[in-house]
This record gives sequence, C-alpha cells and structure tokens, in this order.
Amino acid sequence: MPIIGTQQSPIKIVKNKTWKIDVPEGYLYPNYSGNELAGHFDLESKNFVFEQFEHFVLDGQPWVVRKLHFHDLAEHRLVNDTYPAGHRADYEAHLLHTMGTSPDDDPDGTGPKLVLGTLFHRDAGAEQRKSAEKLNAKLRGVVDAPRAKMEQRRISAGVNPLDFLPKPEDWNFWYKYEGSLTTEPFSEDVSWYVFDRDTAVLESDFDNLAGGGAEQHSRTVYALDRRYILRSFA
Ligand SMILES: [Zn+2]
Repeated sequence: MPIIGTQQSPIKIVKNKTWKIDVPEGYLYPNYSGNELAGHFDLESKNFVFEQFEHFVLDGQPWVVRKLHFHDLAEHRLVNDTYPAGHRADYEAHLLHTMGTSPDDDPDGTGPKLVLGTLFHRDAGAEQRKSAEKLNAKLRGVVDAPRAKMEQRRISAGVNPLDFLPKPEDWNFWYKYEGSLTTEPFSEDVSWYVFDRDTAVLESDFDNLAGGGAEQHSRTVYALDRRYILRSFA
C-alpha cells in the first residue's frame, strides 16, 4: 500500500500563481548529444529503459537519464499565456533522471529524481522526431498483440532524448516544483521541471507510444498544499 503524502504529482500549474526566480539563461540545459541511446521498451511497466547513458548538469549536479514514458492526454494541466482558460495537452513525455553520471551512482533508483515533463500537441506540420518514429513503429501492433508476442515483453530500441524534449529555444521556459512519481510507489522524491511551451509533434511519431496502449495511466491532479511552484520566465 503506497504512502501518499502531501507532495503528490501531477498538479495543475497556474502561471500567475507561480513565483518568478532569477536564473541565468541556459540554467536548465539538457544538452544530450542527439545520438540514439540503446535500451528497451518494457511492455509491462510501459517504460523505455535506457541501457546506454548520458547525463546533463544542472547547477553543478549531474543527472543521468534512466527511463522515458508517455501519457496520452497530459498529466499536468496548465493555465498560462497561451492557454488562459486552461489546457490539457495531447501528450506528455517524462524523462526520468537519477543523480550522478551513471546508473551505478543510484542502481535501484531510490535517491532523488529529476523528471523533465514535456507537453506535446499533434500538428501535421511538425518536424519528424526520428527515434520517436522508429520506436513508435516497433510498438505498432505489439501492444495489442496476442499473448505470445506480448511475452517478449522487451522491445529493443534506441532513443534520442532530444526527441522527447522541446526545441532548445524553449528550454528557458519552465516551471519547477517538488512532487512525486505518478506511478507506484508514488515516492515524494521528484524535482519536476515542466516546460511551459507546448511542443508540436506528428501524430505518426507518437500514436503507438501514447494512446496505442504503451502509455502510462494519467493520474488525476493533486493539491499543491504548502508547496510553491517556481518559474524561470517573466
Ligand atoms: Zn509520467
């Protein structure tokens, strides 16, 4: 039975109730190489699990990318300049990181976590996200396949983390708050960075990842309680 406390995720982010902080430009700069990192999609947990690792440094602290998954209909709700009446994006991708430059620094993933949350909307004019398209194609038909095929459970693939983030020009626009994992064990050890700018994506890059059965359940929103949401922009 999970312990659910007072710092759960996701939440509704209302821009005019967030706190602007002064951070240098490029403070959050997940500058992955752009190479496809090897790993596998686990059909049971519905996570892409990295087996090849890259990290980025935030305020002197390295964070290594460990997992990636999708939500069909975003988990975080946003009320911002683009969507003053509120908005729930078509998709949300979560890149989960643990502390250090290698998984050996936190093999069981029990330490602090950092998740980058990117909201996406379907747009027929979006640029193709190559590793997303390839992973999407591999998952086509597999998720709903008869049990025999499901039992493979792991689908090898390569993922370029940049395909699941906004374009670099949007990296300076984010919200930060302290929250939890949105799947079991719902541990309250996640620093969330949710990007403000909705990113365009081709439906054909994501339709099996999110919405095709490979997506994770989207959790309801939780109260902010005593927390503050920080934001990086005016
Ligand atoms: Zn998630």
